[in-house]
Amino acid sequence: MLAEARGFMFDLDGTLVQRSRDGLIALPGAAEVIAAVRRSGRPLVVFTNASHVAPAEIARELAQAGLELRDDEVITPVCSAMRYLAGRLPDRAVVVLGSEDTRRRMADAGVVVLADADGADPGAVFVAHVDEAVLAVLERAARAVQRGAAFLTANYAAAYAGRDGPIFSRGAMVTAAIAKAAGRRPTVVGKPSRAALREVTSRLGVAAASIAVIGDDIGMDIALGRIGGSTTVLVRSGISAGTPDPGGRKGPDLVIDGISDLISMLG
Ligand SMILES: [Mg+2]
Repeated sequence: MLAEARGFMFDLDGTLVQRSRDGLIALPGAAEVIAAVRRSGRPLVVFTNASHVAPAEIARELAQAGLELRDDEVITPVCSAMRYLAGRLPDRAVVVLGSEDTRRRMADAGVVVLADADGADPGAVFVAHVDEAVLAVLERAARAVQRGAAFLTANYAAAYAGRDGPIFSRGAMVTAAIAKAAGRRPTVVGKPSRAALREVTSRLGVAAASIAVIGDDIGMDIALGRIGGSTTVLVRSGISAGTPDPGGRKGPDLVIDGISDLISMLG
């Protein structure tokens, strides 16, 4: 099954690494799996829904954990948002509700970035990870969405797995506030979404059906893989540890206990 895959997408947290106070720690077998994929000559990417850190910074943290990935092998929802915007709304101003760093990176990539819809006619509102929110800014973003601006979010899942239990997604909270006020559903560009899948397939240069998607989250990673008929592998080392095998229509093609189980399956 995996021997036939022509490209690989790995989730990060709970799949290849665990977060600790001291940074990222590679899970057993993660470095060996990456090395085995490279030896086979097939491309790979890592997709994390963390939208507040630059891919280059993530690659640097991964190198410290012993996992060597190029900057362009690391994808976040900011990457898929920029591809979406470039394809559909080129040259339009975008209100980015996110960190200062996210706004700067998007502006550096050529996006016309605004921090507030005030007095502007933005083509889109994009919500990424936020640390704080100003209600007046959210109101103006909601009005822009009501007037027809595209409404994108990095993530609309309520929470992600922390060491001490679920951590609420502030980006999802802000997205929900705007959605409620504007009466519009957001378009997710992180996992799982078509925009995220397009980013993965274009980076890999491989059609979705020939990709293996490996992750620990059924609602994110396995759901992403199923959009385009990729081969899906659930790793039970993270958020889905201890849950019963989902199986059925929404289930993965393969369930493994840890990433090291892949080494012998790569062909
Ligand atoms: Mg994960």
